[in-house]
Amino acid sequence: MIDSRSHAYILLGPPGSGKSTQADLFGREFGVAHIDIGASLRAAAGERTMFGDVLSEIINTRRELVPDNIIRSILENELRKVDPSRPVVIDGAPRCEHQIHLVLSVIHDSGRELRKVILIEVSEGESIARISKRFSCESCGRKLILWTDFRSVGDKCPSCGGAVTQRVDDTEAGVRERYRVFLEETLPVIAHFETQGELIRVSGDRSAEEIFAEIISDLKRV
Ligand SMILES: [Zn+2]
Repeated sequence: MIDSRSHAYILLGPPGSGKSTQADLFGREFGVAHIDIGASLRAAAGERTMFGDVLSEIINTRRELVPDNIIRSILENELRKVDPSRPVVIDGAPRCEHQIHLVLSVIHDSGRELRKVILIEVSEGESIARISKRFSCESCGRKLILWTDFRSVGDKCPSCGGAVTQRVDDTEAGVRERYRVFLEETLPVIAHFETQGELIRVSGDRSAEEIFAEIISDLKRV
């Protein structure tokens, strides 16, 4: 029997593991659509609607986990925008154990089946080293990497001379906290998919191309 359902993949990994880069490579090579829950939540929280205000309060002010019903509606909405025959890679959910069932049911309802869950592993030290170099320009919005785009903290934007700032989440303390939250919330998710035989583990301490090549060879093997 050939299952005609298109595939869904889930990407898991701590901050700085390069999930977005891998999702983009998937898209470029295989036409897989990237469902970025974090980006969709941030976009919705930036809208000047009642829903946007409520979401912004949760994410930016109270810094709490987004309720399941919001995750569900965001995911459903994003999947609806993609042609049902097109495979997707989901990044940003499930973040904790009780979101597993909801994510799987939304995938199923979209006419797709879960193919594999890909975990990109990086150490806390590597996570901090990568993310704490991320800055951006307050004026033109350009993303800037320390030592690549500018020389030291306090320098001006090389494009427009604007002030260069860093998100609190991207400071060393911020990354440490996000890494701790990842371990606490997402390890049970990883354990679940590992038990189900659906998990692929890939080391993220390499170039994006090497990581992608390993993911592809692992997917072919299973
Ligand atoms: Zn600038």
